[in-house]
Amino acid sequence: MRLVLLGPPGAGKGTQAVKLAEEKSCVHISTGDLFREALRKGTPLGVEAKGYMDRGELVPDKVVVNMILERLKEDDVKNGFCLDGFPRTIEQADVLEKLLEEIDETLDYVIYINVPRDVLVKRLTGRRVCSDCGAGYHLISSPSEKEGICNECGGALVQRDDDKEETVVHRLDIYEENTEPLVEYYRKQGILLVADGAQDIESVNKEVLNLLDKEERAN
Ligand code: AMP
Repeated sequence: MRLVLLGPPGAGKGTQAVKLAEEKSCVHISTGDLFREALRKGTPLGVEAKGYMDRGELVPDKVVVNMILERLKEDDVKNGFCLDGFPRTIEQADVLEKLLEEIDETLDYVIYINVPRDVLVKRLTGRRVCSDCGAGYHLISSPSEKEGICNECGGALVQRDDDKEETVVHRLDIYEENTEPLVEYYRKQGILLVADGAQDIESVNKEVLNLLDKEERAN
């Protein structure tokens, strides 16, 4: 199955994409994770992306597109994919469409996880990650046992630069301007499914699976 998870930062796309990829036996591809990995390895791609990521801005289309084209050529993508964080602009969506056309394929569904803006701000500014092992926490919904300390490895918990309040507001503005138009883009193609992302993780996952089941039975 070829899926795209669409939604604002903080909607839980990453969490849902991991679950879905497992449930639908396809590979989870997150452009944000690819950039963070490149950054950890200190590659030129990571260094180039860092400034944009820290400011909460989009990495230029050309850079993202080259990276994703390489990733989509890998063997494990043959059984389908669940894209998380790509496409984020109409230009990126056009590139993806052309690429799939070349291999005689199309996207099956785009799942839009819809969450109101005020909920997103609370979610994003409360996120913390372990600076050593990368484990994720949330000040309200999943706090660590000892404040500021990772349960898994004892490392210090930090706030990602792009989760600071000023940056969060900026990221949401950028999302609304560049990425939200993709909702209509895919609605027009008749492949958009909308899930209520203000629910808890398990309920969103259930809703998404139900939406997909219903579509597959109808087609
Ligand atoms: P994410 O983990 O999906 O929130 O991505 C983190 C950051 O990586 C974003 O705020 C952007 O700076 C960058 N990024 C990830 N995917 C894309 C994309 N498709 N287009 C442009 N920038 C991206």
